[in-house]
Amino acid sequence: MSTAKPLWAGQEEGRWFTRIEVTTMLNGAMLALPLHVVTGRGTGPTFGIITNTHGDEFLPTTAIRRLIAELDTAKLKGRLAIVSVANPLATAAFGRLSPEQHGRTDLHEVYPGSPRGNATQMIAAAITENIIHHADAFIDFHSGGSGGRLQARADYSAKADGEVKRRSLELARAFGMPFVHENDLSGTAAHHANTRGIPAFNPEMGGSYLGPENTQLYAGQAIDGLRRVMTALGMLDGTVKPPRQLHFGLKSRREIRPRHSGYLVSHFERPDDLGKLIEGGIKLGEIVDLYSYEVLEELTAPCDGYLFFSRYCGVVGAGTQAFAVAEAATSQWLD
Ligand SMILES: [Zn+2]
Repeated sequence: MSTAKPLWAGQEEGRWFTRIEVTTMLNGAMLALPLHVVTGRGTGPTFGIITNTHGDEFLPTTAIRRLIAELDTAKLKGRLAIVSVANPLATAAFGRLSPEQHGRTDLHEVYPGSPRGNATQMIAAAITENIIHHADAFIDFHSGGSGGRLQARADYSAKADGEVKRRSLELARAFGMPFVHENDLSGTAAHHANTRGIPAFNPEMGGSYLGPENTQLYAGQAIDGLRRVMTALGMLDGTVKPPRQLHFGLKSRREIRPRHSGYLVSHFERPDDLGKLIEGGIKLGEIVDLYSYEVLEELTAPCDGYLFFSRYCGVVGAGTQAFAVAEAATSQWLD
């Protein structure tokens, strides 16, 4: 907890919006972070949420817009503090990273940031100071971006320990996705929150540009997941029982990355393909050369495993993740 008062100090029950100023941009405008605060009638924890850490991941922020509108503050205990666009520079460029010339440009790698760093680090410092240090629980909500990715999991930090790790896993499970992944979150907002004793995790679910049906499906799951976490935190009445989930760590994570750029013909394009047990050697897709129309490469499952990351058909760059499975032999089911 920071000793300085949070921006929302004194806010009564209801919804409030403000902007957190970060720095002046070269076009003369102020770079500012949007902050939505929803304060409940009852007392309770402060739940910090950021979305659009990567600028092309729109699913969570549009889902949260609906959640904010639907919440009944009379039944809410505590407060939501939401930064709806954590990296406006990346969002303005329709990309993952900040388009700046020097230093690290992935907001997902620079926490706790620095007010004397590059613009990306300044953004991280503003989120650290104004949100994370005043939160009792925290999530950094990701989805697939412009690459047509499909995901359905919650990640928590492998580096957390003791009580904060136990509590982070508990909240990640409450979110209700079929996969829970103990991941390397070094440099992320969630990892920094953990170092301050604040439980945190990163949902990684759904995607952008997935068509109306899948967008509806994932937006519904995102809102449901957030409500479940709020219930687990005591902000809403009720109890939460996580579904049966597959838990896997870094050693079980097997990524399938094409060696060639081209058009990925994906054989696993549906949300319910995630979670399927794939036999080692099964063909997941192929890379077609857009110039010669030749098949450059076939992508196959490296082992028996559960598909937890997939892509729509579309262009992929060499070396990017096309599919990923959790190795069956080393993953565990949690009841
Ligand atoms: Zn992301």
